[in-house]
Amino acid sequence: TVPLGTLRPVVELRGDEMARVMWDLVRDRIVLPFLDVDLVTFDLSLPERDRTADRITVEAAEAVRDARVGTKCATITPTAERLGTGEVRRLWPSPNGTIRRTLRGVIFREPVVLGAVPRVVPGWTQPIVMARHPYGDQYQAVDFAVPGAGRLTMTYVPDDGGVAVEHEITRFGADGGVALGMHNVTDSIREFARACFAHGLTRGLPVYLSTKDTVLRSYDGAFRDTFRTVFEDEFADRFAAAGLAYEHRLIDDMAASALKSGGGFLWACKNYDGDVQSDVVAQGFGSPGLMTSALLGEGGRVLLTEAAHGTIARHHRRWVAGEDPSTNPTATILAWSRALAQRALLDDAPQVGDFAELVERVTAGAIESGCMTRDLASLVGPHQAHVGTREFVDEVARHVRDELHRTRT
Ligand code: NAD
Repeated sequence: TVPLGTLRPVVELRGDEMARVMWDLVRDRIVLPFLDVDLVTFDLSLPERDRTADRITVEAAEAVRDARVGTKCATITPTAERLGTGEVRRLWPSPNGTIRRTLRGVIFREPVVLGAVPRVVPGWTQPIVMARHPYGDQYQAVDFAVPGAGRLTMTYVPDDGGVAVEHEITRFGADGGVALGMHNVTDSIREFARACFAHGLTRGLPVYLSTKDTVLRSYDGAFRDTFRTVFEDEFADRFAAAGLAYEHRLIDDMAASALKSGGGFLWACKNYDGDVQSDVVAQGFGSPGLMTSALLGEGGRVLLTEAAHGTIARHHRRWVAGEDPSTNPTATILAWSRALAQRALLDDAPQVGDFAELVERVTAGAIESGCMTRDLASLVGPHQAHVGTREFVDEVARHVRDELHRTRT
């Protein structure tokens, strides 16, 4: 096994269905045989969340905050259907939402880019890391249908008894229409900016923020100005030292130039833009099995890694029936390796960092040499054979073992 040095524990959050199957395979065959890392484990599977009235989710998030590094398996967000069948006692909230709020986190999605896997956007030879502002705008808005003629206004009433400010938005005709009131808060924009710059530095990528400040001069202007201030006050020196840049772009210009680019940047988006663009970018890079996710919390102090995909229920049904559905565990492997790399960095345990890098290298190498799950093989074409999930994991584990052996002898 690899010497741990001063490595402190990694918090592991277990999950559901096919994601959980892959989670256990990766941990038990690729990580633990080579690294005797101390794991603090929370079972966030749906039955366990139901049994503990979801307390386990909050406890897990707090443990990640204390340890500063965690890794999470995908979890089921309960639906009305599961409530109807009696599978859960209540509609517990999405664990990801609870964890994100507890850690005041920003989520970054990053694809693994491999030469052997064709992309929908072939020019994207470097990853595009997507950051979505997790608060406000359309997602905390009031929207309603306006039934007929009338005046629409918006009013701000200061708490200190100051003069109220009223804006007339429009006058509706007899036909009525629709209306929307939305907001954001400076504090959250500032934290978002900090997380984006910190993550850009960690990943060695330039940062772009996109807005429509030509139309929403005050609203989007506040995003532009807050990013600029945070950058200049806290990050400009470190960016210059790393040879990295920061730029604000109009969203339409950014969307078009991203398509033409070769990738290799972090794209900070407002909430709704991030919702749309992160799926565009994910699709452009190929399979959900190649999309990793990192939650940076507490202003960059805490890292929780994840695969961006869900629990893949359809594949799980086949696994339970005794088949191997050939689900892609790459993003799960990287959730583990990136959490270990961060632990190694914080605890100054370079050999563990080397191990994490080795795991990533041999995983990429296995795929590049044609060992592919069905999702990737189908992107290559009908002549490309595919392997099962278990076979893929074992192939990576075998290469890790061989490489470790080789470097010791
Ligand atoms: P999903 O990501 O589980 O699956 C959608 C489809 O994408 C699958 O049918 C499959 O075709 C493909 N896919 C996803 N990952 C793949 C992989 N590794 N290899 C090969 N193909 C892959 O999304 P869903 O079906 O919308 O959600 C299922 C469950 O997961 C839901 O209960 C949802 O709440 C949950 N979910 C959890 C998280 C999370 O915990 N981070 C994220 C998304 C969804």
